[in-house]
Amino acid sequence: MTGGYEVVDIAEKEYEIHTKTGGSFHVNLRTRTCSCFEFQMLAIPCSHAIAAALKAKINVEELVIDEYKLDSLNRAYEGIILPESASPVGIGMPSIVSDLQLGPPATRRPPGKPKKLRYFSRGEKRVGEMCSQKDQMRQVQGNWTQQGHLQEPNLR
Ligand SMILES: [Zn+2]
Repeated sequence: MTGGYEVVDIAEKEYEIHTKTGGSFHVNLRTRTCSCFEFQMLAIPCSHAIAAALKAKINVEELVIDEYKLDSLNRAYEGIILPESASPVGIGMPSIVSDLQLGPPATRRPPGKPKKLRYFSRGEKRVGEMCSQKDQMRQVQGNWTQQGHLQEPNLR
């Protein structure tokens, strides 16, 4: 028994794993596969493969593919990226970009008072009716009081 599994030798580096619940899985350590498919899908040994590796006295870490190992990670970042000023060839800016005169957009504020209420999205519900101006004043001044700007106003 290995980790609650019964491991049976089938062939060279091939094992039949019997679980306590009556299931059985076929592990091949040479091709790094298991009939549960987790081993070949993740390229990380499944519990059945680990049980087989323990039986075969193989280091479990050797069953993980090289791409997941620290050495591969280090190799992925071993190249250097130079800052633009240090790069040997400057990046040429096309004249269509460098000749542009960029300024603020030529727009004006529309006439009239801006709307206080925003447009509601489709499906969004308007909660209650609009407050009276007096309630809105009280709410605003109440908020200020919370921030320490004003004392509670007497609106009555
Ligand atoms: Zn498995």
